Amino acid sequence: MIHRRLFLGLAAGAAALLSLTGAHAQEPLPVVASFSILGDMTSRIGGEHVAVTTLVGPGGDAHVFEPTPADARALGRAKLLVTNGLQFEGWLPRLVATSGFKGETAVAATGVTPIAFVQEEPEAHDDHDHDHAGHDHGPSDPHAWQDLANGQIYARNIVEALKTADPAHAGDYEANGAAYIAEMKELDAEIRGELEDVPAEARKVVTSHDAFGYFGKAYGIAFIAPNGVSTEAEASAADVARIIDQIRDEKIRAVFVENISDPRLVERIAAETGAEIGGSLFSDSLSAPDGPAPTYLDMFRHNAGELAKALKTS
Ligand SMILES: [Zn+2]
Repeated sequence: MIHRRLFLGLAAGAAALLSLTGAHAQEPLPVVASFSILGDMTSRIGGEHVAVTTLVGPGGDAHVFEPTPADARALGRAKLLVTNGLQFEGWLPRLVATSGFKGETAVAATGVTPIAFVQEEPEAHDDHDHDHAGHDHGPSDPHAWQDLANGQIYARNIVEALKTADPAHAGDYEANGAAYIAEMKELDAEIRGELEDVPAEARKVVTSHDAFGYFGKAYGIAFIAPNGVSTEAEASAADVARIIDQIRDEKIRAVFVENISDPRLVERIAAETGAEIGGSLFSDSLSAPDGPAPTYLDMFRHNAGELAKALKTS
């Protein structure tokens, strides 16, 4: 009896050990993505082979993020880091240095044609320039994901990085990436169709920070914002006054709040000018899973739908 029990115990132990080593071989690749849009893209391409930790989650503002010790630990364990680049994540180099991260890094925006960040107001002086651009931002607009043609470049970069970090599943990453890119192309055509018949004089909207330069260039809509390409600096009274004048002069009818920004500034501009609040646009972050923009593709569908609705009736 005693022997039998001992034997069973040993057998169970060995089985547990076997399943542990088995589980280890199947463990998904630990990946860290800097913000929610890249987290979604990476999950979509990596599928069951990746375990993605997103640093700046849904609703978070990656311009002004402060990483926690838990973020450093997650990055320290990761085999792949997916970042935007174009100096979007000013806090990232320090986090990488402190985390002990030794994996691959994918810079998703590699290969996109950046839009230069240009000061709009002619009377801007040096101090103002500095405020406007923020401290950690270069001369390029970092929001390149807001054009589905760039989204395809992001996807290809993520596919390549996953193949390098985890060659055993290269075929799956290729296939998932190809299906994803095909969906992006289809959605891009859909959005062009949806915005096609917006009258020329209605193709101007106001948002709170300058996050839609790439979207505007791709789909022919001018976005005007009191804040620059970063949310770090507050809009000055002069910036706000200039936008209010512009809305009146050019008869801009729609202003939009953003998911990551305080809506009060845009609400004040709407109240002073009589412009309608067209709705809420997702700029630098996705919504929670039960919100209107839980994925990168849903974000485009939502934003294009809100714009079409506001601009076709204005
Ligand atoms: Zn932004």
